[in-house]
Amino acid sequence: MNIKILLLVFVCTAAIALNGQDTKDSEMDLFISGLMNKMTLEEKIGQMNLPSNDEIITGIARNSNIAAKIRKGEVGGIFNVTGVKQIRETQRIAVEESRMKIPMLFGLDVIHGYKTIFPVPLALSCTWDLKAIEESAQIAATEASADGICWTFSPMVDIARDPRWGRIVEGNGEDPWLGGQIAKAMVHGYQGRDNSFSSDTNILACVKHYALYGAAEAGRDYNTVDMSKFRMYNYYLYPYQAAVEAGVGSVMASFNSVNGIPSHGNKWLLTDVLRNQWGFKGFVVGDYGGVGEMINHGMGDLQTVSALALKAGLDMDMVSEGFLSTLAASVKEGKIDEEQINTACRRILEIKYRLGLFADPYKYCDESRAKRDTYTPEHRAIARKMAAESFVLLKNDKNVLPLSRTQRIAVIGPLANTHSNMVGTWSVVANLETPATLVEGLKAVAGAASDIVYAKGCNLTSDPVLEANSTLNGRDLHRDDRSEEELRVEALNIASKADVIVAAMGEASEMSGEGASRSDISIPEVQEKLLKALLETGKPVVLVLFTGRPLTLVWEDENIPAILNVWFGGSEAAYAIGDVIFGDVNPGAKLTTTFPRSVGQIPLNYNHFNTGRPFGDDSYKKYFSNYLDEKNSPLYPFGYGLSYTQFSYSDITLSSDSMNANGEIVASVTVTNIGKRDGTEVVQLYIRDIEGSVTRPVEELRGFKRVQLKEGDSETVKFAITPELLKFYNANLDYVYEPGGFDVMIGGNSRDVKSARFNLK
Ligand code: BGC
Repeated sequence: MNIKILLLVFVCTAAIALNGQDTKDSEMDLFISGLMNKMTLEEKIGQMNLPSNDEIITGIARNSNIAAKIRKGEVGGIFNVTGVKQIRETQRIAVEESRMKIPMLFGLDVIHGYKTIFPVPLALSCTWDLKAIEESAQIAATEASADGICWTFSPMVDIARDPRWGRIVEGNGEDPWLGGQIAKAMVHGYQGRDNSFSSDTNILACVKHYALYGAAEAGRDYNTVDMSKFRMYNYYLYPYQAAVEAGVGSVMASFNSVNGIPSHGNKWLLTDVLRNQWGFKGFVVGDYGGVGEMINHGMGDLQTVSALALKAGLDMDMVSEGFLSTLAASVKEGKIDEEQINTACRRILEIKYRLGLFADPYKYCDESRAKRDTYTPEHRAIARKMAAESFVLLKNDKNVLPLSRTQRIAVIGPLANTHSNMVGTWSVVANLETPATLVEGLKAVAGAASDIVYAKGCNLTSDPVLEANSTLNGRDLHRDDRSEEELRVEALNIASKADVIVAAMGEASEMSGEGASRSDISIPEVQEKLLKALLETGKPVVLVLFTGRPLTLVWEDENIPAILNVWFGGSEAAYAIGDVIFGDVNPGAKLTTTFPRSVGQIPLNYNHFNTGRPFGDDSYKKYFSNYLDEKNSPLYPFGYGLSYTQFSYSDITLSSDSMNANGEIVASVTVTNIGKRDGTEVVQLYIRDIEGSVTRPVEELRGFKRVQLKEGDSETVKFAITPELLKFYNANLDYVYEPGGFDVMIGGNSRDVKSARFNLK
């Protein structure tokens, strides 16, 4: 072959490769057009209907109401059905007994694992370990798909600055930039990096809750959001956009209204921003009954709100059946255009096509996989490692931690002896009896010779109603009928004979999560009373804190020598806590959400604006921006977390003190492990724009690196800063960088940083 022909072959191959996606797309378009030409209006609307069962069930009955609907072509997908056999049978009804034989989607809330449960998302974010986070989603997808599921309602990426809001536990904290990186990692983990769904272990992701669900007023779930677009674009929208950039196939609308219009009917959100600005190509699903809830929002009757949702850009109606029951009439009455139904139906069919369900409706129904791929020793080992990586050491005076295996340990507290509470909220198919309790986990890790004793000490709260509402998922968190006094005396008796006390306290798993907002975010009083009594024994006390949100811990921080925040670490949490408590693993997690001193400080986020009267000091000064009765500073700042070793930071070196519009500056620091153990440090880069056309935050996270350092070792960590990294939305909502001075700050949390300055020309 001469060189010219070779070149021609090469060019043609390259062109075919480049056009591969286009060819696939046009094949898909042809296929779907052919299908839709044969569909009735009602069948198209049927594709836009997503019913559920209130309880997770294994399969639907052949003669059920829902089976009849599937046969009539009135169901596009279903959620809360699990199990390969049952899903196969349900799918069979769709593809054999309905006229159009269109396969259905099977969805579920696979939020932080399926059977192998990983730490709750807020905890996972504190690992700052994107690889691990992606892997957790990959494993969740592998396990869920082995059980017939092809669609997860995750990732949840709502930025939250208000820890009263219970669903803060489901997100990644307060920082949009970090939230965006995690959103991408999760989407890649579920869908696969190339979004081709070529493997039956990749499932469809759904980013939620679009948009601004985490900004609910006063932290009350489902509450109103009224926010300037300036704030939205700069601080809240990026994680959703990042998920779109990563190729997420579906988006879930949020329950809240945004500037007066509920998200489900908000055309600006669902079409102008999502599709026209960000280029989203998948479909938008409503949240549970969200279309119907627009009636409560005061937007009209079911027919009106359903039409409103469709016109706004909502493609699939979860549970309300507003689409199913009213859209055909609205077309006939000229209230909506049939083309809008065609568009929505096509988007859903496209995803089914891309998932490979038309080629093989039973793609996710391989019965041999469930046993092979679910809750395997490998998955559990990874979950254990990730759990240990997510625990934040908040305090460790005089190196109380780690404990020695030879110490006599009294484990006291209402959360020490429960299996189900370990996994955390939204572990919908987890086996709640198998996770080890804290006591079991500590014993297993400490070994046979260990001396670990237990007493409950108190109930979760003194209020039985609050306790019942807080433990829906905590099936083995039974109330002890003995009096407070009796429980305490028993615990103190045991504690007084021990070398060290491990107090297992905080929140039950359902004290955070959906519909679980709190106005008082302290440890329940009865537990605090016990904690005080334990402290009075004079024994060292380690508080192992279970929580799904930042708590107010001023007293604990002042008085308890060691606090390890373990969140809800998943199915392997108890062993992971043992790994950290006994020092087999050195903790290195860092908070992704600020811990306030009191509820009165909320919202308290690290990336706030300055005022015209800034006052950094924690003492009071009249006519300055502070409280009469509270400090300005948080208890634990964003990015904070201790280790069993210590790290020192050199001053920052900048490769230059000025940068051109197409230039780059490298900021370096040398980090040294100056303690007595190997450890991991998350080195964080923050930037402040000193002069801008709009006021800019006092600092913003723009980079981080996890470095592992052996005792005595150093590493020079470098961050490349380009103008792209300095961009923000200005008053016209243009995404720009502006010339002027910038502070670069690097440190182990957002408070303790070294700083240097450069100029952007
Ligand atoms: C939640 C969603 C969830 C859906 C389906 C809703 O109540 O807000 O996050 O995906 O239920 O279970």
